[in-house]
Amino acid sequence: MERLELSTALSQSRQFVANLKKASQVDIRDCYQCGKCSAGCPLVSAMDYNPHQILRMLQLGQVDKVLHAKSIWVCAHCATCFARCPKEVDLPRLMEALRIEAKKRGIIKEKTVDLFSDLFLDSVQKYGRVHEMGMIAFYNLKSGQLFKDAMLAPTLLANRKISPFPHKIQGQQAVQKIFAKAKAMGGERL
Ligand code: SF4
Ligand code: SF4
Repeated sequence: MERLELSTALSQSRQFVANLKKASQVDIRDCYQCGKCSAGCPLVSAMDYNPHQILRMLQLGQVDKVLHAKSIWVCAHCATCFARCPKEVDLPRLMEALRIEAKKRGIIKEKTVDLFSDLFLDSVQKYGRVHEMGMIAFYNLKSGQLFKDAMLAPTLLANRKISPFPHKIQGQQAVQKIFAKAKAMGGERL
């Protein structure tokens, strides 16, 4: 069994935890490990550590383990955990802050999630909404799965569920301003 030098881990993680609190507005000490977040998380079966375990590891100073966890990439920000938490711990924001920090350090545990996120935001920034077909095409190309879901395309096109051409929304410039403002405020693109 892995031995944990608790006092060393805690002193080494102090600055990290302080920065994490600043970035996410989450105080990890608020969590009292009731487990309600994990019990309600729809993606817990795809995670390597349950959401409450991520919090516990942070409380114990196991920063490296958390930043290498698949869970922080699997979290879909559905906020079920936040709604259920009796201590109002904003786990989705915490997960996002952890992903940003992991990416800064070059630790991208789920590369397809990272790619999807980048392409989604690129599309929204460019057109004001997602151009599904363009995003799927780039995603397949860049993830090396050229014909993934290709069989669905004719039906989706015939039923006008997707369009081969992107359509810009009317307030597209306002969306660009949101991206610019988020960047000016120090916001990070994942
Ligand atoms: S529901 Fe809230 S208090 Fe309970 S384990 Fe999850 S984060 Fe901690
Ligand atoms: S926000 Fe993330 S951690 Fe919370 S319930 Fe949804 S998927 Fe699970």
